[in-house]
Amino acid sequence: MMQIADRVQRIAASQSLAMAERAKAMKAAEIDVISMSLGEPDMDTPEHIRRAAQEAIDNGWTHYGPVAGIPNLREAIATAQNALTPNPLTPNPLNFTSDDVVVSVGAKMAIYNAIQTVINTGDEVVIPMPSWVSYTEMVKVAGGEVVAVKTKYENRYCLTPEELRAVLTDKTRMLILCSPNNPTGSVYSYEELKAIVEVLRDYPQVVVLSDEIYNALVYSDEENKNIQNTAYADINIENENIVCSMAFFPKIADRLIIVNGVSKAYAMTGWRIGWLMSKNKAFIEACTRLQGQQVTCATMVAQKAAEAALTGSQECVAQMRQVFAERRELICRLTAEIPGFRFEKPQGAFYLFPDVSALMGKPTSNPSLNGRVLKNADDLAEYILNEAHVAVVSGSAFGCPECIRLSYAISTEEITEAMRRIKRAITKIVNKQK
Ligand code: PLP
Repeated sequence: MMQIADRVQRIAASQSLAMAERAKAMKAAEIDVISMSLGEPDMDTPEHIRRAAQEAIDNGWTHYGPVAGIPNLREAIATAQNALTPNPLTPNPLNFTSDDVVVSVGAKMAIYNAIQTVINTGDEVVIPMPSWVSYTEMVKVAGGEVVAVKTKYENRYCLTPEELRAVLTDKTRMLILCSPNNPTGSVYSYEELKAIVEVLRDYPQVVVLSDEIYNALVYSDEENKNIQNTAYADINIENENIVCSMAFFPKIADRLIIVNGVSKAYAMTGWRIGWLMSKNKAFIEACTRLQGQQVTCATMVAQKAAEAALTGSQECVAQMRQVFAERRELICRLTAEIPGFRFEKPQGAFYLFPDVSALMGKPTSNPSLNGRVLKNADDLAEYILNEAHVAVVSGSAFGCPECIRLSYAISTEEITEAMRRIKRAITKIVNKQK
């Protein structure tokens, strides 16, 4: 019998992937299922990026490359990050250079490498919940202890300075933040981040891993502008697509790791290019050493495609953002009609994360639950899959069993139909109790 190592046995399988697999299996059995379970843009990678990859193959970008990534790509990454600024009058104070960047096989691997590089056995890692599924599992692999902090609906599930201070100890080594957030779609404001930085000043041993993979997908409508205007009041800025980055806080520069990638912004999930950035030279050197013994470097052809994405016209990003913005309007309007679904309009990414706790205790008649009452969001996701034939992910996958996650990275027709079906299924259980 082959032994499976303890550290791998501890890893949980991804619930969102499992739900997507179930939807696929039902489709294969000719059941008309709409999947709202996956976190990837449904668009194709833009043509000029695909062409750059074809040219890279023909031009011999088929050998091993530098461990940290192709210099031109690293340069383009630093330039793109530096272009984000809290104030057009003051350039990004951190001024990243290509030496501060390590390109990896997707942002996922960048995050994995960062955790492996910083965390020792027993170190505590603070993760605000709900959160993307993989952080927790990656910390476990590294032997770290996850300190899950439950955030509140009233705060758009953003971590408050009080919540953070309450869990910090001398064993805390890392705080993982994700904004725009998966699964909630919330975007931390400048002031919210600033308040967190202020707390961290008392804990100089805490590294901040800031996952900014959705930063191209922030929506600037009137409501958002109000949030942004309040948030940016102290720096007096009017910028439609302003996105807050942890890089705006030089006070923590020596212990800040920023993660980003091309997957979400350029519809390039399958190319597997992401990166981390840090001004801490010892960290970058250690991370590069780790990667050198691991994958050597990310795929060269994909790196050339990513370089084309960052250095070419950004019109494709604006177009995709517009498409998602319209879908967001649609899904918010339709979800507001569903009884028992409570949500605030999200400011970024492509997820809606309604609180469904009002539906708990309601009886169902669908055989999948043997007619019993709904106990949690897992039950509700199961009910929606079997009754409405729509695949959604239970919030328990993200550490929040009162919610479900709906991905709106699908067509407007599919969103309309999916929400019609969900509404019908939910109305059925709500009416049944009367
Ligand atoms: N971080 C978050 C919050 C994500 O949602 C995802 C993908 O779902 C990733 C990181 C990983 O992205 P990549 O495709 O670059 O590995």
